[in-house]
Amino acid sequence: MTDIAGRVAVVTGGSSGIGRGIARQLIGEGATVVITGMDPERVKATASEIGAVGLAADVADPDAMLALADEVMMRFGRVDILVNNAGIGPAGRISDLTLADWKWITDVNYYGVIHGLLAFLPHLRANENGGHIVNTTSMATFLPLEGLGAYAATKSAVHALSEILAMELASENSSLKVTVMPPGPVRTDIRSSTRNRPEAASAGALADVDLEAAPDAENLRWLSPDEAGAVVVEAIRADAFLALTHPEWLPQIDARNAATRQHFERYDAQA
Ligand code: NAD
Repeated sequence: MTDIAGRVAVVTGGSSGIGRGIARQLIGEGATVVITGMDPERVKATASEIGAVGLAADVADPDAMLALADEVMMRFGRVDILVNNAGIGPAGRISDLTLADWKWITDVNYYGVIHGLLAFLPHLRANENGGHIVNTTSMATFLPLEGLGAYAATKSAVHALSEILAMELASENSSLKVTVMPPGPVRTDIRSSTRNRPEAASAGALADVDLEAAPDAENLRWLSPDEAGAVVVEAIRADAFLALTHPEWLPQIDARNAATRQHFERYDAQA
């Protein structure tokens, strides 16, 4: 079990949406929270609104993440909880995507997590009181959807590295734990992810999608960012590997697993 009160937490992408919700819940539990984000003005405004410390940092920039870790260590002397949450969710069919599209989404959603780990893992592992890493992925890692190929690829990579990091820490008897949160639908600004596309990255086919305006949106259970944040807090406390916002999607996941099982059984039958 990881205690939260009195801990120092860093939440990337905490200036809006799920990151803001996680930050608010951690602050409510007595943690000191540093939030980051792409837009310095928004980081500053959200930080003062929720009682966090705001430090803008681009997760796609490894040096910016190292500088962020130095700043956190200088101010607080330690870090206990790292939430690699910053992300983008634009969509595009794989056959339409440009190299610039792949690079942008990979730099933020996948390398963003790697840069977070490179910057903070040494401090977290050195922490005598243990700590926690939370990586925000997506239900798209379990339930692939057309148009989300690039997105699901980055999130699946983060799931894989998180699972193995958790195993490696456990075999070292580390008191540092790992949680993955694969959210289902949460009402956030993810539908305007292209606002965060750097001008230097040339245009491509990745475009914003507004799932809240989709025809079947009303059939989905939409969570608020604070509700998603509360799910994360519960999972940190329980040292649970998965923080699930939509456990009711298990039947669809079972159906996908059953299809995989059929492939395996085809070989068993031939053996
Ligand atoms: P959001 O757009 O409201 O928040 C995204 C945050 O990430 C913002 O603070 C933004 O500034 C930050 N960000 C984007 N690019 C960045 C960069 N290069 N460097 C630093 N910060 C950057 O969207 P959200 O829905 O809150 O997204 C948070 C996470 O949740 C993402 O990883 C997203 O993939 C995941 N997610 C969201 C949903 C959903 O339904 N909203 C579902 C599944 C997964």
